[in-house]
Amino acid sequence: MTHSDVIIVGAGPCGLFQAFQLGLQGLRCQLIEALPFSGGQCTELYPDKPIYDIPGVPVLDAKQLRDQLEKQLKPFSPVIHFNQTVDSIESNAEGSALLNEPSNEPGLTVTTSAGLTLQSRYVVIATGAGAFTPVKLRTEGIEKFEDRQLFYGKVGIEHLQQKQAVVTGDTSAAIDTAIELASADVSTVLLHRKRRLQIDSDQQAHIAQLQQTNKLQLINGKILRAAGVAVLEALEIQLQSRDKIMLPTNTLIARLGNSPKNNKLEKWQLATQHNLINVDPTDFSTNRDAIYAVGDTNTYPGKRKLILCGFHEATLAAFAIAKRMQSCQPIHTLYTTTSTVLRQRLGVS
Ligand SMILES: Cc1cc2nc3c(=O)[nH]c(=O)nc-3n(C[C@H](O)[C@H](O)[C@H](O)COP(=O)(O)OP(=O)(O)OC[C@H]3O[C@@H](n4cnc5c(N)ncnc54)[C@H](O)[C@@H]3O)c2cc1C
Repeated sequence: MTHSDVIIVGAGPCGLFQAFQLGLQGLRCQLIEALPFSGGQCTELYPDKPIYDIPGVPVLDAKQLRDQLEKQLKPFSPVIHFNQTVDSIESNAEGSALLNEPSNEPGLTVTTSAGLTLQSRYVVIATGAGAFTPVKLRTEGIEKFEDRQLFYGKVGIEHLQQKQAVVTGDTSAAIDTAIELASADVSTVLLHRKRRLQIDSDQQAHIAQLQQTNKLQLINGKILRAAGVAVLEALEIQLQSRDKIMLPTNTLIARLGNSPKNNKLEKWQLATQHNLINVDPTDFSTNRDAIYAVGDTNTYPGKRKLILCGFHEATLAAFAIAKRMQSCQPIHTLYTTTSTVLRQRLGVS
């Protein structure tokens, strides 16, 4: 079990900026993120699209914003626990009693889908549109092969039987996975539904080379049926031409993208409205002691789901938490330009 001052649920743009603001306050935090990378909607839904309304930055791509937030956060190097969702947030009676005292006793216990247990004095929920989870195949009966022969997450090459696999999906992740496997000598088929895949020049060069050595084959079609009773033996595919083929395989890797899944906020005993967390807009506290909520997941009069607004919320939440950590002593506003303390924390003095 690891301890920190604050646990942030979600490493979208608001979760990342929350970690930065807590770092400026001298607080240690850890983040938990469902995806294998940070950036939330920016990275998952629109990485290459330009954003024009970040203050002082006329334009940058959404993925660049994520990269810049990570760079800004570097001086505080918080741990991010990827590939897992927060299941429960329980108040620890002993710690809660100490929350208004200058104690380092943890007050909350957070558990994740990967079996991790973390303790902290405060939690900030920055879960945005929900936990991004892999889109699943809808082929009837295919779910029985999941985790044995059908995989949605990362698969170690050593787990591939007979060094053969079908990767399905039109996403960049599908293309990269197919290239990675074929490059590691796995006989790979990339099965895609769109007639034209969006392939960048690097991927194009790799694919051409792997096709020449017969390590990679591209098939344009959709899965109609999974053949096999106890084990997956083949896939029935309808090609773009509408012809049907049987494609023998014992490993299917689906990379269909991720979609946000609503969190069960009532399970976390949070007061909500239309599945958004009610917060006090002066400090972004929720109805639960020591739990705050920022970004797209919260609601209050006048709320706008904009990155800029989430950044403001994260800043005030960090001040509120810092104040409580210091026995409710006032926290002075310091400037990163001139404050020796802040510059030391940032490692720039
Ligand atoms: C196409 C598009 C364009 C946009 N353009 C703009 C724009 O130009 N300007 C602007 O200001 N805004 C824009 N937005 C909105 C902006 O992206 C959101 O306001 C912003 O992403 C919200 O950030 P967030 O960190 O609150 O949530 P998110 O970005 O949704 O991130 C939340 C993260 O939390 C994770 N998570 C959720 N639940 C759990 C859990 N239980 N356990 C672990 N992890 C969890 C999710 O996987 C996700 O990574 C746009 C949105 C879209 C879809």
